[in-house]
Amino acid sequence: MEATTKPETSGAAAALRRSGYRVTPQRLAVAKALAEAGRHLSAEQVMEAVGQALPGVSLPTVYASLEALENAGLVRRVASGRGPGLYDAGPAAHHHMVCRRCGSVVDLAADVALEPALARARRQGFDAEGAEVVVRGLCADCRAAASHRDTTLSA
Ligand SMILES: [Zn+2]
Ligand SMILES: [Zn+2]
Repeated sequence: MEATTKPETSGAAAALRRSGYRVTPQRLAVAKALAEAGRHLSAEQVMEAVGQALPGVSLPTVYASLEALENAGLVRRVASGRGPGLYDAGPAAHHHMVCRRCGSVVDLAADVALEPALARARRQGFDAEGAEVVVRGLCADCRAAASHRDTTLSA
């Protein structure tokens, strides 16, 4: 998939400041790593990706940076419901397919009318900022594996 958004650290810095966060090398490196990965990463994978820019960075620091970036609207946590939390740098709202067996999370480009749900949430006094759809089920690989009963599963 061609990403049209370039990793824009100045944009990340501005968004952090707008949200009242200090701009730190950790936060910028984490934002850059996610934007450059162009896919969903766990905090551990983010830590690996920023390892060169930030030698010795700790997992709690990565989590704290992800949280700051999430609150600043730069990063979204994917609602996968199982496995390690995955983070998404795509600022544009999109949907996901989540496999209940292997935990894979894949983007889903579907035109879904979310406005009725957001409107209903607002009527209930909820300050709705957005919504996304999670399609649950079995991915193609797991479907294929499930059809071969004698395939041994290695954990
Ligand atoms: Zn699967
Ligand atoms: Zn995604």
